[in-house]
Amino acid sequence: FAKVQGRNQYQFFMPALNSRVSKRLQLENALRQGLVRNEFRLAYQPQYYLGRGTLSGSEALLRWHSAALGPMGPADFIPLAEETGLIGPIGDWVLRHACEQGAQWLVQGIAMPVAVNVSACQFRPELPAKVAAALQETGFEARLLVIEVTETALMQDLEQAAQLLLQLKALGVSVALDDFGTGHSSLAYLKRFPIDKLKIDRSFVSGLPEDADDSVIIKAMLDVARHLGLSVVAEGIETVQQQDYLASLGCEAGQGYLYAKPLTARQMTARLAAAAMYERAPLKLESVPV
Ligand code: C2E
Ligand code: MG
Ligand code: MG
Ligand code: MG
Repeated sequence: FAKVQGRNQYQFFMPALNSRVSKRLQLENALRQGLVRNEFRLAYQPQYYLGRGTLSGSEALLRWHSAALGPMGPADFIPLAEETGLIGPIGDWVLRHACEQGAQWLVQGIAMPVAVNVSACQFRPELPAKVAAALQETGFEARLLVIEVTETALMQDLEQAAQLLLQLKALGVSVALDDFGTGHSSLAYLKRFPIDKLKIDRSFVSGLPEDADDSVIIKAMLDVARHLGLSVVAEGIETVQQQDYLASLGCEAGQGYLYAKPLTARQMTARLAAAAMYERAPLKLESVPV
């Protein structure tokens, strides 16, 4: 009887475990297939100087339309890609592809800065060589490539992080600290790490201008950035009020749905071309109107 009961419990427990494990396996297999079948794309979200309303750059954001699972957002698959190591080849693809696109824009006379997100797992000694190879093989310019790292990536090994950042800087690329304020870094590290740009996380922007706490935090972040000579991009600007408030505090640049959702490369190119019609060629980045 005990044996039967035991088996019943076992059978009762298994389906839940099974479905969780098989969902992960399914996703992992789909990711592998996605790489082989070239199912990934990059979307580009434009960034603007808040004061002038001109384009300041773009961020490349990974998109995946899986044949097996349908459209997936980065939050749905990047964590598993990190756990399984698949972030390696996926990250390589992102870097290469963003540089190819940037090089294409250059050929069209558009010097468009492109920011690439690098996960903590990619922030390893081989990264600078990969960045150098991507630049060299695509013809994209180092001064236009921005590497976005998170506080988490920097904090896993301070000594190694400092080394890597120096090597990246030596290539001529710039480094942005993504989701600033959400991690657990000490402000003192900002001084030690050769970082060029802070990206203020959307969570501090969404409550502006009414939320008194967010307002104080934003002011403090902008103060720190100013004193350390870092440039700033505010993430997730959705309203004119947020934009105007940030601009009044001296925030240099921002991105968000107010200006554009992440666009396909084609849409981004069309936007640039349309803006260029107001200009005499060659198009300079700073002269593109919103
Ligand atoms: P992130 O780097 O902080 O990117 C900004 C995210 O905010 C993007 O979400 C973007 O679509 C979204 N966003 C932009 N403006 C607004 C706005 O006004 N309102 C709201 N609600 N959201 C806005 P997405 O594309 O879903 O990416 C989520 C995260 O996934 C990224 O956050 C980044 O951490 C990661 N990610 C995306 N692409 C890559 C990649 O190629 N490699 C790696 N390692 N991570 C990536
Ligand atoms: Mg980012
Ligand atoms: Mg961010
Ligand atoms: Mg964010």
